[in-house]
Amino acid sequence: MSRPRVGVLALQGDVREHARVLADLGADVTLVRRPEELAVVDGLVIPGGESSVIDKLSRSFGMQQPIRDAIQGGMPVYGTCAGLILLADRIVDGIAGQETFGGLDVTVRRNAFGSQADSFEVDLAVDAFDGPPVHAVFIRAPLVETAGPGVEPLAALPDGRIVAVRAGALLGTAFHPEVSGEHRFHRLFLDTVGAV
Ligand code: GLN
Repeated sequence: MSRPRVGVLALQGDVREHARVLADLGADVTLVRRPEELAVVDGLVIPGGESSVIDKLSRSFGMQQPIRDAIQGGMPVYGTCAGLILLADRIVDGIAGQETFGGLDVTVRRNAFGSQADSFEVDLAVDAFDGPPVHAVFIRAPLVETAGPGVEPLAALPDGRIVAVRAGALLGTAFHPEVSGEHRFHRLFLDTVGAV
């Protein structure tokens, strides 16, 4: 099989970490800032960072509509943390006027853990994966508060709150596998790219 050609949205956030994981897994990685760059990839990762900044930059770079069109057209997209917020159809506690690309039928609460648990790490059992639990790093992370019937929860905190979801070609995690050497979510994303 030829190498999957995938993009990392490179407007803001931890772009390099995602690019490195995807390259380690054998993908041909393009940094995407312009519609022409989006047009040549078969899948897109939206990194962690600050969702309101990525939202604003995507609008000023003329990327919002092309990304919405790509999602509607079935392009596989994986969002981590801020990227998950940007994939959500509905957000709670966004800044005034904050928009998303949408596509995932979920309501996501931004900065859901407040200041006392700004950042934390926890091991999560993920039934979809063989092997050890996922070591999940949460950094000012969001939570999936509600998920529509077509959305499959992939991981939850011990108290049941959902922190990873999949629906069709879209994948979202509230945490950052790209910073902890966890490659299985990126592999799942690349498998989806290969299957389209
Ligand atoms: N709190 C950030 C936001 O609202 C997300 C943090 C992250 O991506 N690590 O976008």
